[in-house]
Formats: sequence, C-alpha cells, structure tokens
Amino acid sequence: MSTKMKVCKFGGTSMANAETIAKVAEIIKTDKSRKFVVVSAPGKRRPSDTKVTDLLYACADSKDFDEALSKVKERFDDIIKESKIKLKLDYTMTKKDTREYLASRGEYLAGKVMAQILGYEFIDAAEIIKFDSKGNFLAEVTHNLCKKRFAKVKTGAVIPGFYGSDDKGDIKTFSRGGSDVTGAIIARAIDAEVYENWTDVDGFLKCDPRIVDSPKLIDMLTYKELRELSYMGANVLHPEAIFPVRASDISINIRNTFNPKHEGTMIVPTKFFERGDYKRETATITGIAGKKDFVAINVEKSMMNNEVGFARRLLQVLEDDGVSVEHMPTGIDTICVVIDRAQFAKSSIQKVVDDVKKVCKPDRVTVVEDIALIAVVGHGMTARKGTAADVCGALADADVNIRMIDQGSSELNIIVAVDNKDFETALKALYGKLG
Ligand code: ASP
Repeated sequence: MSTKMKVCKFGGTSMANAETIAKVAEIIKTDKSRKFVVVSAPGKRRPSDTKVTDLLYACADSKDFDEALSKVKERFDDIIKESKIKLKLDYTMTKKDTREYLASRGEYLAGKVMAQILGYEFIDAAEIIKFDSKGNFLAEVTHNLCKKRFAKVKTGAVIPGFYGSDDKGDIKTFSRGGSDVTGAIIARAIDAEVYENWTDVDGFLKCDPRIVDSPKLIDMLTYKELRELSYMGANVLHPEAIFPVRASDISINIRNTFNPKHEGTMIVPTKFFERGDYKRETATITGIAGKKDFVAINVEKSMMNNEVGFARRLLQVLEDDGVSVEHMPTGIDTICVVIDRAQFAKSSIQKVVDDVKKVCKPDRVTVVEDIALIAVVGHGMTARKGTAADVCGALADADVNIRMIDQGSSELNIIVAVDNKDFETALKALYGKLG
C-alpha cells in the first residue's frame, strides 16, 4: 500500500450493538483510505447499560464467574445475530485467567466481529503491541513490530485496542480508555495521513457543558493547546494518545459516528498552525478549562532573591515527599507552589510544610486549601492586547476574587486560581467574556 492512509479508532458507543456497528462499517466504506481500524469493546447501549469491559472485570472479581461470563456472551451473540454474519467466536476464558487477560477480551472479540464485517484481516494486538513484565509500554519494539506486520496487509486490517503482551506472551492492558492509545500507535506505524478518533460527540467544546450552557465547538486546536486543556479535565481523548502521533506530526481528527457529516475537531501539530497551514474560525481563545481542589503553599523569606539555591531546596523537599507541582508563581521574597490535592497521598500537607520549614528555613509558610485553577488557552492571545485585562475584568464583574494569576511567556495560556466555591461562577464569567 503506497498512498497515505487513515487510521480510524471507534470507541465503545460506536461498537455498542449491531446497529451502531453497521454505521461504523458504512463510515469505513465511504473512504478508501480507511484501511486500518482500531476498535474498543462494546460500550453502553443506553445510560443504564454496562460496558463489556466492566462485565469482564466483573468476571475477574465476581464469585460466580460463569454467570458474569454469560452476560458477555449474550452481548456478542446478539451482535452476531443481528449483524447477520457467520462467525463462531472463541469465548475460552477461565477463572484462572488474569484480570488483564479477561479485560482485553472485549476488544479482542469486537475486533473479530469488525474484521468479518469489513472483510479485513484481524491482527491480534498481542502480536504487535509490547510491554515489559511490569506493564510498561515498549514504544520502539512495538513500532518496529507494527511496521513489519503492516507491510504484509493487503486489503485492510482490524486491530483490537487497549491491550498487548509482554515477552512471555502474557496480556497487558493500558489504563481505561486505552484504545485511543492503540490507535495513535498504529497511526504512527503507518505514518498515517490523519488519526481519526470516532466517538459519540462532535468534538471538543470550548468549555465544560455541565457548567456553561451550550458552549461552542472547537474546530481546530494545536497539540500544545490540547495539553493545556486536557489535563484540566476535557477528556474526550486519553491523554497518552497524543504522544505517538504528535512526535510524528500526524493530526488527530475527533469525529462523531452518529453525525458523520460533521467535520469534528482537528488537533494539529503546533508548527503546522504556526506556519499558517490551518486557519481557524475560533478567535483569541481556543478553550477554557478548569479543575477544583488544589492546595497553594506560600513560602516567604526576606532576601530570597539573593539566596542561591532556595528554589532548588524547596523543590527537593517536594520531590523527596513524592509531590509534583502544577504551577509556581513567584514574588521577590515569595515562592508559591500550587499542588493538586490528590498528590498528598504519600505525604500529608502538614508533613510537606514541616519539611519545607526544616530545610528552607523560611520566615513564614502559609497554606491555602480548596482553590480551583482555570486555564484560559489560545495561541490567539499572542497577537492581541487586553486578554489578561478581559480575564481580570470578567472575574471582577462576577465578584470573584482572584487568588493567583500566571501567564507563561509563551502567551499560550493564562492561569487563574480562585476559591473552589467560586469555580462555576468564574468559568461562566470567563466564557461569557471570551468564549
Ligand atoms: N474498553 C476499555 C475501557 O472501557 C478501553 C477503551 O474502550 O478504550 O476502558
């Protein structure tokens, strides 16, 4: 196969039943370059339903293995019957199988079904996606195996997402939602024209729809912007899925299986955007995302600016206590470290404060708990004056106190910290002004 191809990954709702799988097949058939297909296990058919992966985890955890397994069989038997295909699936699973092996069977069986419907070959992910014995993904070994195997593909191939195997052949899985990662790995291996990630929404929204009424859709964003937005909670895509494709300058296109005419959201390498390959409809701000429950530790010491190594000592304390830092705004005699509350699992806030006092000998340490961070993100800020003024103005008008404000010199984002209780009000006000 010489011309550039697309990798299409279909998520759980796209694979939920025979009807949705028929839509998937239709999408693949309408574009000849859709030759590499990655599938998730069947997801929920309705809100109260259970995903096949959860049924499989229940097999591993439940006392009545056979009863749990029968629910999995029922899902696939229905799909096969209603799709009117002739396929005998191998449901060999036993109580002795590992949790990861059992969990992987949803994607394995869904891949078999999809390959039969499309007339594509089935490639077991265990052959090509490799992990070490501790479950760490082996990127380069996998890349080489994939390239070798894909060179033999004639018509097209279906690869189950979510899992691979270690050197003993034991099945290992990525974290939940990991089929997105498999899709990205396959896209890199075939040097895809684009990695299409088909899901059940039209794309990324500019703001959280649970807080802001009908936010606009983002037509295009860069990898850098996505990083700023995704770690703050916009999770349409597994965060680790961007690395294999970003490194190879492959764009990701988020698409909706249930609205295939919509062009979705395009996630593009930052340099393509910077050199003007993409024009966007969205203006200064690409998106606004936030997260509650951060802790700010303020460390004060006079003449801190003259003390060689102060910041290093402070960061060393945090490293020794196993805590990672989100942001670090500084003043002449102060450094503030903003930390996700979830980081204090190993060492408590009090222990970290005590260690800072012991090692850094500051004049004063104060702690502010229950703060929320909001990132206002967009390359468009570079060319425009007054974005920071708009941010501050919108929050002042909404009577929200800004606890901290931070803008990197890249002018890609402005981060504001507000009290947890003001989070929703702040997000609404910022979207109202800049969205
Ligand atoms: N089926 C797995 C899960 O539910 C992986 C995936 O769908 O991406 O997490």
